[in-house]
Amino acid sequence: MSAPRLEINLDKIQHNARTLAKRLTKQGISVTAVMKASLGSPEIARVVLDAGIGSIGDSRMENIEGMSRSGIKAPLVLIRSPMISDAHRVVHSADISLNSELEVIRELSFAAKAAGRRHGVVLMVELGDLREGIMPTDIEHTAGQVLAMPNIDLKGIGANLACHCGVSPDANNMAELSTLADTIERVFGITLDIVSGGNSANLNWALSSADTGRINNLRLGESILLGCEPLYRQPIDGLHTDAITLIAEVIESKIKPSQPWGKIAQTAYGEKAPAVDRGNITQAILAIGQQDVDPCGLSAPAGICIIGASSDHLIVDCGRHRLPVGAEVHFQLNYSAMVRSMTSPFVSKLLRRSSTPIRVPAMASNWPKTRRVVL
Ligand SMILES: *Cc1c(COP(=O)(O)O)cnc(C)c1O
Repeated sequence: MSAPRLEINLDKIQHNARTLAKRLTKQGISVTAVMKASLGSPEIARVVLDAGIGSIGDSRMENIEGMSRSGIKAPLVLIRSPMISDAHRVVHSADISLNSELEVIRELSFAAKAAGRRHGVVLMVELGDLREGIMPTDIEHTAGQVLAMPNIDLKGIGANLACHCGVSPDANNMAELSTLADTIERVFGITLDIVSGGNSANLNWALSSADTGRINNLRLGESILLGCEPLYRQPIDGLHTDAITLIAEVIESKIKPSQPWGKIAQTAYGEKAPAVDRGNITQAILAIGQQDVDPCGLSAPAGICIIGASSDHLIVDCGRHRLPVGAEVHFQLNYSAMVRSMTSPFVSKLLRRSSTPIRVPAMASNWPKTRRVVL
């Protein structure tokens, strides 16, 4: 089997999606499953929709168009503010987009009119994380303008936290969003269908609050794919954190000194911490590097320690074991590592449904074996 590869267990992803959707339904909150970290995989979109999720979000038009072409029928939401130059594409393939610029929405309106379509708009509100969003004091004015635009439906308002500055969703900022929804409805005599509170970082708040106010939607990516919440990167109770695994192959295996020799200057990727002399070590090189993954986001199996990475090589200390050439090593990934691997053309993706009951594989116990294929 080709390496490096991502093995993606669709059943585990489906379980995560179903579990989150069920828990949030009890709180009056629907889920938009965000596919951007999986390069808009239609297979993953299908399993999360089968899990009871109602809509699909993505930040890239290429992914939205791909899913639409693949026959995904659920509403498709563009979750990054559209590029004004993309207005025609957006109204053609996305049902709804999240927006924060009137100029862009005006262009969407022209494009929708020209295409004889309607386009849904969710206005993003700035609640302190300082990424996208209209300042709360301007939201009423903006909503008024949008309501007057032909072929545009003001679907609701939303916010996004914990991305740029790590601001946590809490009772205060979520209450502010609820109040803004109430105000817009009262001032304009309308009903907003969507009050989208945020991303996976909102889960701690959403699942522990007795009253989630007007918030009736969350856009979830990381929690569905990796089973963890992004504020403290803790596993979410009852979810699989190993639905996605990265596998790389050993191309060199030698006993080498732990310390380099010669005059030391910069490395391929800048400075390197000085090596501690640990005598000779059992070193292996895996055929994977910065072009395939964010090496800092990899967790190696017990007994293996990542000691460096360049564009195409991952260097590991194998401890007391020796990894033979050709051996495959399985890694867990964080969000950053997953996104890089998913989008790297060098990493093949193996999607599978487990016909057997899902067991959490014990990394340490089934290592090291040559040519181990866990399928
Ligand atoms: C990426 C993104 C999400 C999903 O975030 P996760 O942390 O992966 O759940 C939701 N909303 C917006 C606007 C995003 O950019």
